[in-house]
Amino acid sequence: MATTHNLGFPRIGKHRELKHALESYWHGRSTRDDLLSCGTTLRKQHWALQSKLDWVPAGDFSFYDQVLDMSFTLGNLPERVRGYPGHVLDNYFRVARGRSAAHDAHGDCCHGVSAGEMTKWFDTNYHYIVPEFDASTRFSLDASRLVQQCREAKAWGVNAKPVIIGPLTSLALGTRQDGGAKLALLDALLPVYAELLGELAAQGATWVQIDEPILVTDLEEAWRQTFSQAYEVLTAGPVKLLLATYFGALGDNLALAAELPVAGVHLDAINAGHEIPELVSRLREDQILSLGVVDGRNVWKSDLNRVLDQLEPISAELGDRLWIAPSCSLLHIPTDLDLEDELDTEVKAWLAFATQRLEEVRVLGAALNHSRDAVRAELEQNRRDLRSRSDSQRVHNPAVQAALAKVEPELGQRRSPYKARAAEQARKLDLPLFPTTTIGSFPQTDAIRRARKQYKAGELNEAAYRAAMHAEIERCIREQEALGLDVLVHGEAERNDMVEYFGEQLEGFVFSRHGWVQSYGSRCVKPPILFGDVRRRGPMTVSWTLHAQSLTRKPVKGMLTGPVTILNWSFVRDDQPRSVSCLQLALAIREEVQDLEHAGVKIIQIDEAALREGLPLRKSAWADYLRWAVDAYRIAANGVADETQIHTHMCYSEFNDIIQSIADMDADVITIETSRSDMELLQAFDNFAYPNDIGPGVYDIHSPNIPGKDEIIDLIQKAGERIPVRRLWVNPDCGLKTRRWEEVTPALQNMVSAAHELREIYYRS
Ligand code: GLN
Ligand code: ZN
Repeated sequence: MATTHNLGFPRIGKHRELKHALESYWHGRSTRDDLLSCGTTLRKQHWALQSKLDWVPAGDFSFYDQVLDMSFTLGNLPERVRGYPGHVLDNYFRVARGRSAAHDAHGDCCHGVSAGEMTKWFDTNYHYIVPEFDASTRFSLDASRLVQQCREAKAWGVNAKPVIIGPLTSLALGTRQDGGAKLALLDALLPVYAELLGELAAQGATWVQIDEPILVTDLEEAWRQTFSQAYEVLTAGPVKLLLATYFGALGDNLALAAELPVAGVHLDAINAGHEIPELVSRLREDQILSLGVVDGRNVWKSDLNRVLDQLEPISAELGDRLWIAPSCSLLHIPTDLDLEDELDTEVKAWLAFATQRLEEVRVLGAALNHSRDAVRAELEQNRRDLRSRSDSQRVHNPAVQAALAKVEPELGQRRSPYKARAAEQARKLDLPLFPTTTIGSFPQTDAIRRARKQYKAGELNEAAYRAAMHAEIERCIREQEALGLDVLVHGEAERNDMVEYFGEQLEGFVFSRHGWVQSYGSRCVKPPILFGDVRRRGPMTVSWTLHAQSLTRKPVKGMLTGPVTILNWSFVRDDQPRSVSCLQLALAIREEVQDLEHAGVKIIQIDEAALREGLPLRKSAWADYLRWAVDAYRIAANGVADETQIHTHMCYSEFNDIIQSIADMDADVITIETSRSDMELLQAFDNFAYPNDIGPGVYDIHSPNIPGKDEIIDLIQKAGERIPVRRLWVNPDCGLKTRRWEEVTPALQNMVSAAHELREIYYRS
């Protein structure tokens, strides 16, 4: 009999109950008990949904982040939050957010505690709180969270398998601030894990899922060797360990994973199906194999009949030793498709969210353990749904296919090299040294949000909506003129989100209403769903930009989101390579670029905020990704005359490893994030002569602080040590939509004065 199980479930709640409970607690509108009971209710609901499987996870629920949970379990609290009296939950939020809650007795004194650093969880859009280590780090067990969840599960009669993050992944995810080796801490860490496993056994756990997703990444030899030693210690205990790997193939770590003395191994069969035979052949006779056969990262219905074709022979071979599950925790997809009563019914039939994934696993289990006949109706319905998708005219558009077939490398090529273009552009634009500009958005006021919302709900007609947006555009233009900025923007008031805005106007996308996915803490995103060939219906931004341009003699930048960013922030098709979807998006954006140019727009910015985060986990796959991503960007951007200036923007700072690809994008001007690190990030430019114009951000828009003029001058001069000053621009780090005008106006005033002063200094010299 195959065993069905799940690795983790979204915790935010169908209606984002956890988000609301957290925010209400943080703002002092509800009590800690309210929050705790929301957690209990959600766990109960989620276990009830999962109880159709043989094993459900416990300990996957989190009030903020599962990595931070693990740090607390291991007693690894940063020094700066130790010694606070009060409830552990408040200390937990102090690390997560820099403060706990408004009504906390330490609410005031704790404002100074800096929050833990946040970074992306592997190649997902989820962000975790980075564990902090140093030579003085000591570990001590606090199993209370897991014990409580095990007790709840027992009380409610669910068959729970506690989930923890393994010791090597825990260490690998952290930083060691004193620069020492993280592995040196393992000896101190393992006894705490051993104690934890003992405690879980005492709570009645027979299986514990121990997640080691770093096994799908490039590991240094020292880490590979340590794996065996560590698991010798852990498997000496009383529980059976299911070693879970996900987000990719094991590759060169396959033999290592297979040789660990654990009771079972979970493999991501969506991304590593080709490794099943080898893993099966290496398993010991007492080991189980768990296969992640339905996708925990994407929203398309599984092809159940095909999965069964794959599983039946394995099941025949392994018998009771086969387990099946989603590929990874379902944290990365929305909770329940059934809530989507307004979704296009045709497309809805092709989708599965977390709740539907559980049903898929159940059906697969029933087919394996009884027969396909036992679930004939489900399998037939699945076949019909999949056929409706593959046959749909809306998925396959012959006009798009024809355009794709005609794509030639020249499409991505500007007519002349940067130097010649720069000369043309200088003649046409006549900008000063250190030109000043912003990244696109200006503060999104309540009035703007209200107008957009009313328009969407049909409460505001088209004309009234346009008038409201035009008034905002006018305000932005007047402000920018008064500030004396050189290259203006229209302010993006009409955009709720830089990807959604374009997705809504392109054929090939649908949008859920409740399809929220946790990004970090209480923050959720609702990624667009790219289901079909992408086609632009018509101009998407031209009229807003032209309206802005009609109000000023200064150049107004057209403002677009690039193809790679649209792709990386959406749920994308699984029936064609990402690179093909990206190319379709590139062709659509290219049409918009060309329309802007024809309408007289002289400067066009194409944001690629998410280009870096699409990098594959394995370095060996980077080159291929970067090649097609850069090609797509170039196709979008480069269909213009030399005199049209193309900008791009990226809001991240680690460029060292991809600087060549960024240069290959060949944008005339790139604006990047740098202010937070005091221009240290420009180190990338020490060894690489970036050839084009660059605007290193001088104003950290993530902070309410207003940068002073001298600070900005200092930053630009630092940049000037690495980049010739005539190629430097002066601009903020990112868009200003999350800030208030009261902050933005003085900050930009200082920025413009700094540019003026710099001009004086450099014109004179
Ligand atoms: N143009 C966008 C804005 O200004 C860019 C946002 C981003 O890079 N995340 O808001
Ligand atoms: Zn940005």
